[in-house]
Amino acid sequence: MKKTPFVTLEQVESIVKDYPTPFHIYDEKGIRENARKLKEAFAWNKGYKEYFAVKATPNPYIMKVLKEEGIGADCSSYTELLLADKVGLDGSNIMFSSNVTPAADFALAAKLGAIVNFDDITHIDFYEKVAPFQETMSCRFNPGGDFKIKSQIMDTPQDAKYGLTRPQMTEAFLKLKEKGVKHFGIHAFLASNTVTNEYYPALARILFKTAVELKKETGVHIAFINLSGGVGIPYRPDQTPNDIMAIGEGVRQAYEEIFVPEGMDDVAIYTELGRFVLGPYGGLVSQVLHEKHTHKEYVGLDACAANLMRPAIYGAYHHITVLGKEDAECDHMYDVTGGLCENNDKFAIDRMLPEIKIGDYLFIHDTGAHGFAMGYNYNGKLRSAELLLKEDGSVEQIRRAETPEDYFATLNFDNL
Ligand SMILES: *Cc1c(COP(=O)(O)O)cnc(C)c1O
Repeated sequence: MKKTPFVTLEQVESIVKDYPTPFHIYDEKGIRENARKLKEAFAWNKGYKEYFAVKATPNPYIMKVLKEEGIGADCSSYTELLLADKVGLDGSNIMFSSNVTPAADFALAAKLGAIVNFDDITHIDFYEKVAPFQETMSCRFNPGGDFKIKSQIMDTPQDAKYGLTRPQMTEAFLKLKEKGVKHFGIHAFLASNTVTNEYYPALARILFKTAVELKKETGVHIAFINLSGGVGIPYRPDQTPNDIMAIGEGVRQAYEEIFVPEGMDDVAIYTELGRFVLGPYGGLVSQVLHEKHTHKEYVGLDACAANLMRPAIYGAYHHITVLGKEDAECDHMYDVTGGLCENNDKFAIDRMLPEIKIGDYLFIHDTGAHGFAMGYNYNGKLRSAELLLKEDGSVEQIRRAETPEDYFATLNFDNL
């Protein structure tokens, strides 16, 4: 499928008058439409709720848009909890799915009334020292082994640091029950960025069967199944996008088969999607500063891996459109680079693109999730602004660009 930016060259030329490149820009209309479709896909489940994985795009303005669509927050740290609080989310609108959790994080989660999802059985005693148990608590399950869909290995939970083993799940539920916990959740995240409609249904089958067993073994009330994140997006134009309606239907069938005969038809389905909810609705806009003709053909941008780390650390593909040349032939091969003193600072390697000129604006696609969020300050590079393209076509700055003062804010030069 052809990938088309949600902004045109004309729009970008107007935006840069107020907000210079580089910047991440988000598409409010796309975010809302997608959020509504997600809700529709799971509308068959009375308690369904999406908890947006805050780590993907930790911006309160984005979280507020999502909140208006009925979406809560999945937090994994103290500061992410503070963000959720600032947005006005509390209680069961916050899921706290963390690991290697500090005491202060548990204490804040409990204070906000968030649903705490334990990553380890030892965390139960650790938690008890800092906060009271809540009526509803959750445990993260790691079944071990390989996670397969139709005999194809999707990921290897055996090697993942997360979650409790199957025997630990039973032990943890009995222990929490003894502490007075009334309602229980089961969570698992077994594969990341899956571009297949089979992932959630396959995961749901594992968790639903586990829930039936746990209910029988421990006698507790299973209140929800949290399918967590992992529903992916087509970063490459040749990938087929997930069909969220088909995914919702696949989970419904598993629910009908496994839960309904057991009389467990009050179990809510939760999701913690980050990438699926925001990924396609963000882009990094950057201007070409230089071209370089050596052993290869390079174009150098005013953005670098500090603004978008995925290509550098995962070799991840991000599609690139040269704005204003959307329909031009891709007959030139380039490495598209940033200016870090790191040779992996390349947004694209051997990429076929239209002929690029200095001053051209490039739209790097699908940076809405795990894009800005993974930014860092290596080489003294500063984080960019974040902009929101609103439904009425206007643009709001939802985070300003960093300045050298921000970079120096944690230093005290007076004692030098
Ligand atoms: C990262 C993460 C998510 C979101 O993952 P996506 O791949 O962005 O959907 C959800 N839950 C937890 C616990 C996570 O760590």
